[in-house]
Amino acid sequence: MLNIVLFGPPGAGKGTQSEKLIEKYNLVHLSTGDIFRANIKQNTELGILAKSYMDKGQLVPDEVTIRMLESEVNKNPSSKGFIFDGFPRTQAQAEALDILLKSKSTSITMMLALEVEETELKKRLLLRGKESGRADDQNPEVIQKRIDVYNNETFPVKDYFTAQGKYKGVNGIGEISEIFNSLCQKIDSGK
Ligand code: ADP
Repeated sequence: MLNIVLFGPPGAGKGTQSEKLIEKYNLVHLSTGDIFRANIKQNTELGILAKSYMDKGQLVPDEVTIRMLESEVNKNPSSKGFIFDGFPRTQAQAEALDILLKSKSTSITMMLALEVEETELKKRLLLRGKESGRADDQNPEVIQKRIDVYNNETFPVKDYFTAQGKYKGVNGIGEISEIFNSLCQKIDSGK
């Protein structure tokens, strides 16, 4: 299997690149943010809970997020691999993911990171807020909170995968197709 963690701060382009990668490599895209938003739309219990955190720019609790992710992986037993987008965001999530994949006799192949600096991120998120109507992209305070949470809780997850020799960083600024090519190169040379 080819199991990729697509890593990077809010607004780095993970969703955009995931769409291209799943097509090329025939993978299943699991975006925890997208799954939460789908639940919010359908007004499920999970959606109502997730919304209360997302609206403030906070992380949804690990226990809830991990359980949801596990059930999504279990829904795709014959997949050739996964792109995990927006997960893991904490050390506990990273450990849970390793345990889950191990129980399925597989593992994370690599962590691909889109590296984008903070001023560019804020610009992109505000633009996305205008175009998509996503509530958490329209409020500068919520954007700042998400970036702070990323720096404090999520960025250290990089060390977890670096220690396993699996971290690969790519410049996330430039043409979408150029960034895509850089990601493909990392995948093809590291499979
Ligand atoms: P972005 O990374 O651009 O902020 P996402 O769609 O990935 O957007 O996530 C939106 C929100 O969903 C996050 O701010 C957080 O509240 C919640 N969320 C997504 N993934 C996770 C996760 N793995 N753990 C906890 N909360 C999450």
